[in-house]
Amino acid sequence: MGKLALHWKILIAMALGVIWSLISGAYGLNGFTSDWIDPFGTIFINILKFIAIPLVLFSIVTGVSGLGDPSQLGRMGAKTLGLYLITTVFSVSMGLVIVNVFVPGANSNKDTKITHRLEYEVWAHDNNIEVKDGRNVMATVGEKELAEIRVKLNSDMDTEAYQKMSQKNTQKNANKSQGPLQPLVDMVPSNLVQALGNGKLMLQVIFFALFFGVAIIMMPKDKTASVRGFFDDMNEVFVKMVHIVMNFAPFFVFCLMAGVLAKSADTLSELMDIFIQLGFYALIVFGGLMAMLFGFYPLLLKVFGVKIGYREFFRGMSAAQFLAFSTSSSAATLPVTIECVNENLKVPEKVSDFVLPIGATVNMDGTSLYQAVAVIFLAQYHDVDLSMMQQLGIVATATLASIGAAAVPSAGLIMLMIVLDSIGLNPLWVAIVFPVDRILDMCRTVINVTSDATVSAIIAKSEKLMD
Ligand code: ASP
Repeated sequence: MGKLALHWKILIAMALGVIWSLISGAYGLNGFTSDWIDPFGTIFINILKFIAIPLVLFSIVTGVSGLGDPSQLGRMGAKTLGLYLITTVFSVSMGLVIVNVFVPGANSNKDTKITHRLEYEVWAHDNNIEVKDGRNVMATVGEKELAEIRVKLNSDMDTEAYQKMSQKNTQKNANKSQGPLQPLVDMVPSNLVQALGNGKLMLQVIFFALFFGVAIIMMPKDKTASVRGFFDDMNEVFVKMVHIVMNFAPFFVFCLMAGVLAKSADTLSELMDIFIQLGFYALIVFGGLMAMLFGFYPLLLKVFGVKIGYREFFRGMSAAQFLAFSTSSSAATLPVTIECVNENLKVPEKVSDFVLPIGATVNMDGTSLYQAVAVIFLAQYHDVDLSMMQQLGIVATATLASIGAAAVPSAGLIMLMIVLDSIGLNPLWVAIVFPVDRILDMCRTVINVTSDATVSAIIAKSEKLMD
């Protein structure tokens, strides 16, 4: 066992976690799993997250200050952001195409279809939102039926999922009144310690690190030698910490898998029920993500002339991908992503230290594809026809939402509310896709991480630093 490669050990641990969750469900041990196994999974994510924040700081400063001059930074920065944007827009568009082709939200039962539609119209009416597809099914039913629907809409709000979502929604509405440039304002920290202390303010940490690194390259080398040395060494220490934790990764991953699955459903039949209801939707998201993973990224590498073989790429990235899958967090996976990209894909640190931490925060192709599919699925489910303009609006908002989403579990689900809201749909519909969200989150995080790695290899190649 000792000689087995890490990714195999992680894979075996994941399988054991699944097996354990089945046993635990069958024998009524879910309470035990939640109390005694799941906390180790949480500890693992916490350790990786606390390493991730300083690592982003130190690696970006090291990466930027290692560049020759500000113009190289400008060039590389522009290429990085350009590529990130292209891959994200591509993945949203791909999501839109597959969900329109396969229509997972279509309901063949006529009565259910009308009820869902009415739920939408009543909600829109009560919230003064215009029904854009011009239909008015509400006018055809009596007051009694409408009253029943209102009772249902209200009782839905009492469920745990709705409550969680609406808390976030209130926060989002509070931000809404602050004008279009607010996201830009939010990127600039007013208090560095606070930015470093809050895992959700990664963009602020990136802003500070870039600024700090730029200041270093603008100063004479002899004046900054000790600062550079300090940041280089700190970077190394944090990377070492990752190595230490990763030795225990299989154990932690087992705990994570067992815990997550035990919390998703109490019994096997409950798990099955969830999949029967949402299986088609989940399959479409999954199919799109797999097409990105096994088709789009290898193709992109080829198109840009990066000489990494298909197998070599996946073998090299597998440790990061398995970790992304089990933690559902690009930020927590970041240290291992950097390592895989350096050691296995042979991308120099100079590039990876700059490209990957930014990518973990702003580049989320998996998340944006999932948002496109989820929004249209929810519209189909409620029998709402979205116009071409609304669908294009989804491309824009899903792209922005994936940039703004924090690299932590379920961040994409929260951003989904913003996308729904922006095209006049009920943000609380997220509760419908909530039951399968964690498993899809695990899958989309793999794509998010793979996309960052792909872009870093392309940038390294274009800077002639690969061969
Ligand atoms: N969990 C994802 C990530 O960390 C974000 C999301 O889609 O929820 O990349």
